[in-house]
Amino acid sequence: MRIDLHTHSSVSDGTEDARTLIRKAAETGLDVVALTDHDTAEGWPEAEAMAAEAGITLVRGMEISTAVGRASVHLLAYLPDPTYPPLAAALAKILDGRNSRVPAICAKLHDLGFDITVEDIRRRAADAAATGRPHVADVMIEVGIVATRDEAFERFLNPGRPAYVDRYAVPLAEAIGLVTDSGGVGVIAHPWGRGKSGVLTEETLAGLRDQGLVGIEVDHQDHPPEAREALRAIARNLDLVVTGSSDHHGTGKIDHDLGCNTTAPEQFERLLHLTAEAAVASGRPAPGLLA
Ligand code: AMP
Ligand code: ZN
Ligand code: FE
Ligand code: FE
Repeated sequence: MRIDLHTHSSVSDGTEDARTLIRKAAETGLDVVALTDHDTAEGWPEAEAMAAEAGITLVRGMEISTAVGRASVHLLAYLPDPTYPPLAAALAKILDGRNSRVPAICAKLHDLGFDITVEDIRRRAADAAATGRPHVADVMIEVGIVATRDEAFERFLNPGRPAYVDRYAVPLAEAIGLVTDSGGVGVIAHPWGRGKSGVLTEETLAGLRDQGLVGIEVDHQDHPPEAREALRAIARNLDLVVTGSSDHHGTGKIDHDLGCNTTAPEQFERLLHLTAEAAVASGRPAPGLLA
């Protein structure tokens, strides 16, 4: 059983449309794949159709932009109900923040002497529901300012770099509550990725677990071996589910091939069990766990 619980399509900042992504997941030999685009469920229908065609199990998910203080934290939501009004409202507010940030980034790039327009970025984002910095990076590659998304982030788009613009994110504890109340479960994505170990300490994670957090993504390319071992110990102490995933973005992120990290079947079973419990507790009609 090969299970990959974190992937992105072109509905957010992946480079493959949802159908292509799910087909490739099946061709790679995965048995289970979760589609977890940033802040949107828009890719689900296409992903479901392809999963049925290709004979792979789909977990409907999303990766929600949240904040702990000023730090950005990504929350993987599995089987949430995106029509649950309070969750829908939070997602709309995040997407609005993504859109209104685009002109501000263009203004900063203009000040740096780069003539990149809002239209350029919208064209590049195409039918994406969630516009992100990777789309800006792609335009910078097209016009020859940088060679890779990585270079664009490192030189211009990361916090502290000259074209960085902040945007709205839901407080993490609130996001966990919204996901759980909608009938899904929350798992923190790459909790110690990119220097975040100071934010999500064991103590903080214990508090979040008491507020409904069910798991942490341990096996992720942004975690070196020592971080994985330390996070595994924390998960054991706090009785959290441990997941492993690729965070595949098509060609948008190097070294994130489908299935490069996977989730153990018994951990996945436990995640499904907790999701079924959350669905019952929410009192909302459950759409069926898997597609
Ligand atoms: P945003 O959604 O606009 O906040 O941009 C964050 C997204 O950019 C996340 O999905 C990351 O996976 C992606 N990202 C962050 N840093 C890099 C990088 N160095 N190279 C490629 N993608 C990145
Ligand atoms: Zn992304
Ligand atoms: Fe992420
Ligand atoms: Fe991701």
